[in-house]
Amino acid sequence: MTIMKVASFAAGQWVAPNSAARPIASAITGAQIAEAGNDQLDVQAMLDHARNVGGPALRAMGFHDRAKMLKALAMHLGQHKQALYDLSFDTGATQSDHMIDIDGGVGTVFVFASKGRREMPDGQVYIDGEIEELSRGGTFKGMHIATPLQGVAVHINAFNFPVWGMLEKLAPTLLAGVPAIVKPATASCYVTEAAVRIMLDSGILPDGALQLISGGTGDLLDRLGAQDVVSFTGSAQTASMLRSNPNILKNSVRFVAEQDSLNASILGPDVTPGSVEFDLFIKEVHREMTTKAGQKCTAIRRIIAPEGQVQNVIDALSEKLDKTVIGDPRAEGTRMGALVSAAQKRDVLEKAALIGGECARVYGDPDALPLSGDVNPDAFVAPMLFRCDAPDTATVVHETEAFGPVSTIMGYRDIPHAIALANKGEGSLVASVITASGDVAREVAMGAGAFHGRLYFNNATSMKESTGHGSPLPHMVHGGPGRAGGGEEMGGVRGVLHYMQRTAIQGSPDILTSICGRWVSGSSEVPAPAHPFTRRFHDLDIGETIHTESRRVTMDDIEHFAHFTGDTFYAHMDQAAAERNPFFPGRVAHGYLLLSFAAGLFVEPNEGPVLANTGLDNLRFMKPVEAGDSIAVRLSVKAKTRRTDEYGEVRWHVTLTNQDAELVAEYELLTMVQY
Ligand code: NAP
Repeated sequence: MTIMKVASFAAGQWVAPNSAARPIASAITGAQIAEAGNDQLDVQAMLDHARNVGGPALRAMGFHDRAKMLKALAMHLGQHKQALYDLSFDTGATQSDHMIDIDGGVGTVFVFASKGRREMPDGQVYIDGEIEELSRGGTFKGMHIATPLQGVAVHINAFNFPVWGMLEKLAPTLLAGVPAIVKPATASCYVTEAAVRIMLDSGILPDGALQLISGGTGDLLDRLGAQDVVSFTGSAQTASMLRSNPNILKNSVRFVAEQDSLNASILGPDVTPGSVEFDLFIKEVHREMTTKAGQKCTAIRRIIAPEGQVQNVIDALSEKLDKTVIGDPRAEGTRMGALVSAAQKRDVLEKAALIGGECARVYGDPDALPLSGDVNPDAFVAPMLFRCDAPDTATVVHETEAFGPVSTIMGYRDIPHAIALANKGEGSLVASVITASGDVAREVAMGAGAFHGRLYFNNATSMKESTGHGSPLPHMVHGGPGRAGGGEEMGGVRGVLHYMQRTAIQGSPDILTSICGRWVSGSSEVPAPAHPFTRRFHDLDIGETIHTESRRVTMDDIEHFAHFTGDTFYAHMDQAAAERNPFFPGRVAHGYLLLSFAAGLFVEPNEGPVLANTGLDNLRFMKPVEAGDSIAVRLSVKAKTRRTDEYGEVRWHVTLTNQDAELVAEYELLTMVQY
């Protein structure tokens, strides 16, 4: 059998392993299948290439360009999944494990592509939050922007998700406009290398945007600076060693860590055996113990059940574990494959023995492994369930992660006790609760929220569509305090901002408009050369403004609108009642009448480039309008966003003022305008 030479991709070149390479064995056969590592890798050239070539190319693009690039990348990867599945079996993973790692990874890139288009501007500057009014006269304002870091993101990943682990970091990094150097764990790096080759061969990424280190990183971390980020996933021990690198400390290099965690799942006090929710609990725990053979950072390590239910849970879970086919991950009926390596098995057995020192093993025997298929048993391990009878004084079970199919059940007296036990993990990625009780859910959220990066509630209502205790989703924050590493990844745009610098900007409205590419109120108006509704998307300038004629509002108008629409609310119809209302001087015009009049004042009626009005944002009515008052409208181009190949969205800032130039209403109008 040929040994795969797992290469690195450095400064535009594939670099084969050299004599310093480490052997990598198949988890199924135990035979060597690959080697990786090159101690002569020029990491400085890699950093230079990322900083001088990849970074500038990515920063020259806008968020939407980069989001489109991600979408193309996800589609391309999606077409090559089979090659990755084929390789991945040797990591011990089953086909359903591949769905999490490979399909899940591709899906994550799709979500970031879509969020980039929908939630980030069609430009290069991200605006974080609202404009801050810093002066009475409105000539000095503040805002927060985020711009891409000008260094490189170094992604150091764990072995268990060679594809998802890379892509969940890469997608937000590239969307931010930052190049990445990816360093997968050596045990499964041949799968990551294949995925990187697929991405690079597609030609979708600019030069220098993605590089790969297969094997050791040499002195890479000693060469990082303040514009670089390290995003690490792995064990707490490695995280603490790497984050205390003197160069990282000296340069305040951002260090995001996702590390091991003692995740818990609580069976709600309202759930009893025989109910769908009890079965749901068993299903979730069983899935977390057996998926990826328990090598999941989010797996349920501690099962927390009402004291009276502990034996029922053990019985139901044992029955389900009995039916779990363990063996060749390539075989169709196999539910649980191997650990990644024999070394990993040794580690799991060592940790399980430690847990066994303070807890009773109630299911599974490390020496009696029921295996199906023709496999080498060296990396396979039996699922093991322990029972902890003194969870308040136990320590190992709350501190030790056996990174395999190992979990411990413990009983609780009441919800505060369950919360206290869940929190004894001193920080986790996720805790779940199976309950139909809103009160229990609220108590757990308040009592345990601070200790867990994610709280997952499930019951009969949500179970069909729920995504699973152990699935980090690109939309939701992944990470956790304390033992979980104190980091945070994903969470939609939040995850993108980890690779950007937030900067407070202060200045005049015109300065702010120039910087952020969105019209800030108080900025100079750009006179429209023609009615803006006659102008095409690309011709419209930010700040382009028209002022309309004014229109007098009469009592007839109010009466007519009321009867026409059926909105005969007393403030429009009954003078005495309206006067008793603290908001109104007497009968007033309907807010929606004013909006309709405003449209009548600013629209250009003829067929033209404006295709549709798609909504209003941030509508506020500031001052009532009485019969006899007049209103006029100011319409300014606030922002433009390309949407399709034919049209884009124009966001208009609209103000209505009365005859005394007082602000009556303000909103943002959304239209689709042809290119
Ligand atoms: P690990 O041994 O800590 O290794 C993690 C990564 O660090 C690997 O890529 C490893 O590369 C690298 N590394 C080790 N020493 C290094 C050094 N001196 N310089 C640079 N890189 C170095 O963890 P693992 O065994 O791969 O993964 C299992 C652990 O990861 C478990 O504890 C699990 O809970 C945790 N995990 C956490 C999450 C999460 O999202 N929180 C997700 C998955 C896994 P080599 O392989 O080449 O040594």
